[in-house]
Amino acid sequence: MDLARLEDALIGQPRFRARQVWAWAARGARGYAEMTDLPAGLRERLAAEVPFSSLTLEREDRSRDGTLKALLRTHEGRPVEAVLMRYRDERRSVCVSSQSGCPLTCSFCATGQMRFGRNLTASEILDQVLHFRRRGAVDHCVFMGMGEPMLNLQAVLGACARLPEVGVTHRRTTISTVGWLPGIRRLSESELPVRLALSLHAPDDALRSQLMAVNERYPLAGVLDACRAYHARRRRRVFIEYVMLAGVNDRYEQALALARLLDRRAFKVNLIPFNPTDTAFTGSGPQAIAAFASALRRQGIPTTVRLARGRDIDAACGQLAARAPAGAGAAGVPAGPAGAG
Ligand code: SAH
Repeated sequence: MDLARLEDALIGQPRFRARQVWAWAARGARGYAEMTDLPAGLRERLAAEVPFSSLTLEREDRSRDGTLKALLRTHEGRPVEAVLMRYRDERRSVCVSSQSGCPLTCSFCATGQMRFGRNLTASEILDQVLHFRRRGAVDHCVFMGMGEPMLNLQAVLGACARLPEVGVTHRRTTISTVGWLPGIRRLSESELPVRLALSLHAPDDALRSQLMAVNERYPLAGVLDACRAYHARRRRRVFIEYVMLAGVNDRYEQALALARLLDRRAFKVNLIPFNPTDTAFTGSGPQAIAAFASALRRQGIPTTVRLARGRDIDAACGQLAARAPAGAGAAGVPAGPAGAG
């Protein structure tokens, strides 16, 4: 819910009211009617004056692996996608968007191909989490949906600050960035002990600039220094995300070059199988990914391979573009510039 609007609506009420309402929402309440410790008249007035969510649900898709993707809309109709991943070990992780669309243009990512809308507010970020919280407990949150969190850091941190009340501790909250240097520095200085993930994707500046234009502005050396500083201050390893693109960044020498860039105490690599987007890239096969992972491990770099989730509903990393999954009849959903499917 729009927490600023809630505060306004509660002017003249005892000061604890806003907290009380938020506490219900954070525990998964479905509406004001459930807030039984609020006077009935107040519940009715709030229901009339403050929409329970700042986002409306347009559609929801369920993947064969149980992943849920919600397409939500801001009050003025901007698309926002959020994903709930459920794992066999009971972990329930929400992947949230920090912006509608993304102003950056990473060449392999579907979000980068759609039009940028705007930054989301802290309430709009929280409402993505609450959407899934109403279905059951959630315990992890990753800022890996649409948008670049560091370009909207104040709202992102505002949302992070309230996540523990929803059930997600700071240590289980991860902010992923393309390497927006000023943002990494600001995050290091913030008080919240959230995790940092860096989308690296290439072990040298020439290739990285081809894949991610942002590298021209903030080249590798400075970005990695900022990540080391974050680690030095926080004592928490930085995740390096590396999407595996066949014939582009998956060669043995590139694994060695990547290992040379990273010190094993400060970084941990997560290899991401490429999820199909309407771009010129193909993903490395499972064998190539396994070989790359073992080359890194032999150099002493802790390495994991990310499970691909929700691919059949375009809910996997880099596929969020607010369009319908292939063949799913997308009534009312405008196709992104790349077309549906
Ligand atoms: N803008 C931030 C947050 C988005 S996180 C960032 O880039 O870090 C989404 C992650 O998925 C990023 O690591 C991104 O590079 C990666 N990604 C983008 N397109 C992908 C694709 N098609 N397949 C797999 N991963 C992809």
